[in-house]
Amino acid sequence: MRKSLHSCKRIVVKVGTSTLMHSNGNVNLRTIEKLTRVLSELRNEEKEVVLVSSGAIGVGLRKLQLETRPTSIPEQQAIAAVGQSELMHIYSKLFGEYGYPVGQILLTRDVTDYPTSRENVINTFNTLLNQGIIPIVNENDTVAVEEIEHITKYGDNDRLSAIVAKLINAELLIMLSDIDGFYHENPLLNPAAAMFDEVHEVTDELLQLAGGKGSEFGTGGMLTKLAAADYCLKNDRQMVLANGDDPDIIYDIIAGKKNRDVVYQFKTGGILS
Ligand code: ADP
Repeated sequence: MRKSLHSCKRIVVKVGTSTLMHSNGNVNLRTIEKLTRVLSELRNEEKEVVLVSSGAIGVGLRKLQLETRPTSIPEQQAIAAVGQSELMHIYSKLFGEYGYPVGQILLTRDVTDYPTSRENVINTFNTLLNQGIIPIVNENDTVAVEEIEHITKYGDNDRLSAIVAKLINAELLIMLSDIDGFYHENPLLNPAAAMFDEVHEVTDELLQLAGGKGSEFGTGGMLTKLAAADYCLKNDRQMVLANGDDPDIIYDIIAGKKNRDVVYQFKTGGILS
């Protein structure tokens, strides 16, 4: 029997740097506060929530009072190391206000390739969730640079969040970005572009619309979101891409509301309907 969104128990929420930071480089406390409140309320409603959070480099730049982001990967790794602990400090403080401890999980995307590490990771997630702790996930930027190379305009952590959803058997991945959904064209370039109603399969044609190879425009961020959607669909999970401007949108998504802002684009014929 298919489950409705309302009844799904395990949810992964991925939040991008553009949602967590202002364009002036400051941390967007209003959004982060709201996000932590919404996720805490979901825990109160007995949902199991995992947060995949980008933003380590952005927060690190602010902490070190750097105006521009260095171009070398080692320097970015160092900034991420500073920013990650600062970001966890912010999450720990805010989730703590609602009574939830947080646990940091740093992963690399190849975690699924090694049975022992895979099992260790699953055990850690399950134990944290069973104990009412909110796992907060990021790529381990010290040992891997796949995601760091994509940070800011290239969809950092998008693929990692889909891998986590599969790994821990979450029914739903909610991806919060700076855009309402996937459009026929990049709406920044064509404001009249129409949004897709539903996508059941990520085809080459769709990748072109997201700025794939041969396409003239595109930031790359939508490409990694489609890669995540493809992974979710192939593994019978649902993904909802939504605007993270107002994290209250998560309530609407889970309530199964359908309106201009909440479009269930990446649907499988499987677990969720
Ligand atoms: P985040 O930082 O939240 O992960 P990104 O900036 O990486 O988000 O990706 C979202 C951006 O992708 C949008 O702001 C938009 O400019 C761009 N984009 C490119 N093609 C499309 C498309 N077909 N539909 C929607 N957005 C698109």
